[in-house]
Amino acid sequence: MQDELLPPAIEPAEIVWREGVPESSRFGDVYFSRENGLEETRYVFLKHNGLPERFCKVGNGDSFVIAESGFGTGLNFLAAWQAWRDSGPAPFATLHFVSVERYPLTVADLKKSLALWPELKELAEQLLDSYPPLVRGVHRLVLDEGRVRLTLYFGDILDAWNDLTFNADAWFLDGFAPSLNPEMWLEEAIDLIRIHSKPGTTLATFTAVGRIRRALTDAGFAMSKEPGFGRKRDMLAGCLASDSNPVNDTAHGPIAVIGAGIAGCLLARTLADRGAEVILVDEAEGPGAGASGNLQGATYVKLGVEFNDQAALALSALLFAQRYYRPFFKNFWFPTGLLQLASSPEELQRQQRFLARNGYPPEILRPVDKEEAAELCGVKTQSGGLWFPGSGWLRPGALCTTLAEHPRIKRVFNFSVETLAAQDRHWIISAKNGNQIKCTVPVLCAGHQTASLIPSCHTYRFKSIRGQVSHIRKDLISLPKAVICGQKYLNPGHSGLAVTGATFDIHDENPNPTVESHEQNLSALKDMTPALFEDHEGPLAKELEGRVAFRCTTHDYQPVADKVDDTAEDKPAPGLFMLTGLGSKGLTYAPLLAEYLADRLLGHPECLPGRLAYRLRSRRLIAQK
Ligand code: SAM
Repeated sequence: MQDELLPPAIEPAEIVWREGVPESSRFGDVYFSRENGLEETRYVFLKHNGLPERFCKVGNGDSFVIAESGFGTGLNFLAAWQAWRDSGPAPFATLHFVSVERYPLTVADLKKSLALWPELKELAEQLLDSYPPLVRGVHRLVLDEGRVRLTLYFGDILDAWNDLTFNADAWFLDGFAPSLNPEMWLEEAIDLIRIHSKPGTTLATFTAVGRIRRALTDAGFAMSKEPGFGRKRDMLAGCLASDSNPVNDTAHGPIAVIGAGIAGCLLARTLADRGAEVILVDEAEGPGAGASGNLQGATYVKLGVEFNDQAALALSALLFAQRYYRPFFKNFWFPTGLLQLASSPEELQRQQRFLARNGYPPEILRPVDKEEAAELCGVKTQSGGLWFPGSGWLRPGALCTTLAEHPRIKRVFNFSVETLAAQDRHWIISAKNGNQIKCTVPVLCAGHQTASLIPSCHTYRFKSIRGQVSHIRKDLISLPKAVICGQKYLNPGHSGLAVTGATFDIHDENPNPTVESHEQNLSALKDMTPALFEDHEGPLAKELEGRVAFRCTTHDYQPVADKVDDTAEDKPAPGLFMLTGLGSKGLTYAPLLAEYLADRLLGHPECLPGRLAYRLRSRRLIAQK
């Protein structure tokens, strides 16, 4: 049994406005200077961390990491982002900003606060557009077409610095006055600041309190008192000696992603966007040949009644996928909303227990009755259920093709991988026809074929499960306006076709569509939502077209995104990784897991807290002898 976590919703900030500036009524302090918050940020945090000058030294493939205590209105973040942009960084350099917030602003308060800064308008809009619902945990926001990545931890500072993996180049210490908020400035928090610092890390803070200065000095920072902003007399700046914390070595050289399905394409893309050299390999002629090649698929997760690590991971994945796909909105991603039907008395009971226990914000999900469900879906449903307004459906095959088109992705298709072998500091990937690829790190994203490619003496517990989808012509049934999920799912359709499915055929290896499977899909759909067929004859199973693919799942139905650390090679190679086991939830899980694995491969701040990353480890899949 996993530990149950606190319910997901987090308490928001209580804001009062005085003289045009937001104040926290809980702490009795202002979010920024009454004189000029933006100028204060530039003076205290940017200038005293040597920014933007240090930004200019960040090359392609490198990143600069700012960590902040107290995200508040996001003003410091936007000012840093603007300075990063204006400094003209290398095209494939990344600004990472890691921040923690115990009492996040609601989107309405954030909007009002950021409206104070017309010159930050464009950046503020991007932030507002991606700002997560107020649920605790880590939220990764990919902004500025991937050039800026914000890791926002909603929760307490000590939990954040204990849960997160990152090393900062610069710190903005901005958590209200120490006299009003001592918890933000505990010695334990200051020790963690040192632990998360690179050699030579700088820091700046508006406060000049002697206790803070001494604690930072004791932690190893060379501190100096500087003139404060505006009416404030002093502030502090500091620098960590260059020979302190060693920094991990990360891979340099090409990363080979084996398998060009949704997981592989997303991974290749996020790596390439951050400046890595990527080789995307597949035995097929192009991307999306396997399960990801389906015409349509829904972004759907089933959240457990208890909010535990498994539910937290599913929720993070769902929210990240909804944000990540947004730039692809027009052509590939259709956030129509999704209804999870309460299709049986048991499911209704489960949903009721789930709702009573968790209290999710309505932007994520809310219960709807039968009437509202029918209105939202545009067809009469048999029951109400849970409505996920930000979910929807995708064209995964088309998306894979687009993701793989990037100047830093070398695409190698018709390459059927036979073996992987470590050689000195490299890996050699050999094809059946004798062709070879040399890389520093291979990542297996090969779905159900992954197991056979791991050079290990162990057996990994993967299962392959056949799934057939059926394509239904839109003149043959009444199509819904939103995705409906029950025993099957049905998408609203595109180019005259809607997809339903998929069958779940354990121990069936038939790669071709069968009439029986179409019959199964059709009859389940009729049971689930008979109104779809009321004004139509409905399709005949024998005339339907469809597609068969094999889902890769694990013994515990949880995905894997980790290093494979038991390869049979004697010599230590830089590492072999895998990202797979996504079952039928690949479209939802793959964006977050690809983001996380790219973080690890490149030594960037990680977008998952340790306890959720633990759920993705590869060792759990090794069968005991
Ligand atoms: N940097 C912010 C900006 O740009 O708007 C202003 C930060 S404000 C001065 C301090 C923030 O620290 C508040 O938003 C507050 O809710 C947050 N905070 C206070 N105590 C905290 C704690 N224990 N853990 C995490 N955040 C905390």
